[in-house]
Amino acid sequence: MKNHVTVLEIDANAVLHNLNYFKQKLQPETKILAVVKAFGYGSNAVEIAKIVEDKVDYFAVAYCDEGIELREAGIKTPILVLHPQVQNIAEIVKYRLEPNLYNFTIFEAFLKYADEAPLINYPIHIKFNTGLNRLGFWHTDIPNILIQLKKSNNVFVQSIFSHLAASEDPNEQEFTVNQINNFAYIVKQMYGHMDYKPMIHILNTSGVINYPKAQFDMVRLGIGLYGFGNDEKETANLKNTHTLKSIISQINIIQPGETVGYNRSFVANKLTKSATIPIGHADGISRKLGNKNGFLIINNQPAPIIGNVCMDMIMVDVTNIDCKVGTEVIVFNHQQQIEYMAHKCETIPYEILTGLSRRIKRFVKR
Ligand SMILES: *Cc1c(COP(=O)(O)O)cnc(C)c1O
Repeated sequence: MKNHVTVLEIDANAVLHNLNYFKQKLQPETKILAVVKAFGYGSNAVEIAKIVEDKVDYFAVAYCDEGIELREAGIKTPILVLHPQVQNIAEIVKYRLEPNLYNFTIFEAFLKYADEAPLINYPIHIKFNTGLNRLGFWHTDIPNILIQLKKSNNVFVQSIFSHLAASEDPNEQEFTVNQINNFAYIVKQMYGHMDYKPMIHILNTSGVINYPKAQFDMVRLGIGLYGFGNDEKETANLKNTHTLKSIISQINIIQPGETVGYNRSFVANKLTKSATIPIGHADGISRKLGNKNGFLIINNQPAPIIGNVCMDMIMVDVTNIDCKVGTEVIVFNHQQQIEYMAHKCETIPYEILTGLSRRIKRFVKR
């Protein structure tokens, strides 16, 4: 790590703390699926998986390749692939990943593959759309799903699930409760015609916080593991998992009237000390944070970003900060800073975390 200065530190104990925090909100028998898609929300999916593998029942990734990466790293836990394509079926099976079958195209293609292979009782998951209108079967598809399942003993329905559209939003409580009730009704119809009872699950992180009664057999924890609840109070109970830091590469003294950065967008109105930091928009630091919209922390003091964010660098105002070349710089080490950045970028912490480029070296603090 010594030769990398801009690094993202993943706090293993914080991840475990967050997992335990959610565990104590759940019934002891409720299973936990840890969502590690998008490189574990921008961290390192393999490392996150290793940190929690003994303490969760399932992992989920969005795409097949993400699941393969976990398998190649030796992860043995069941892995649900949320968004597989027909083109991925052979690899899904090769790596014993468990596909979400969300419409008839992939469902029938998978059943055909399973019949020809042949596979026996291969674990699959069936997703229903209950209002997000993104991926999933409609309730009207149930009879046809059941007919096809009856014909096949090549697959075993490991779970039936759905996803909430607005679990974090108190104004959408009525809609969300409706989604949960519709899901329960779908499950009832499925159960009524199956000779076994697949697991059922619908809650994501903010679902666990706001609708714990709907925890059913399993919950899917994503952002919560990485330190964010759906309000300040919940987030305060969680620990920050992602710390992004760098160092100062160069200090410049800017005379009044001189400018800093591309397009000369910062103009010094007094003698200004600036510091240049090796991180830029190619690393996930949005240009929206330029021109004093964002700040870094140097020696416990805020240093505003001055001028435009460059591809590989930013400049900050350190006029009143004791620092020199090599001094450590914190881009963020607390959820509030990530939330502030997200606010300034007109986005949400999910996008800040997942937008951190692969160029930044990750390492795990244990
Ligand atoms: C990403 C995702 C989750 C995790 O959501 P969080 O809000 O991060 O907890 C759960 N379920 C599905 C289907 C997802 O796509």
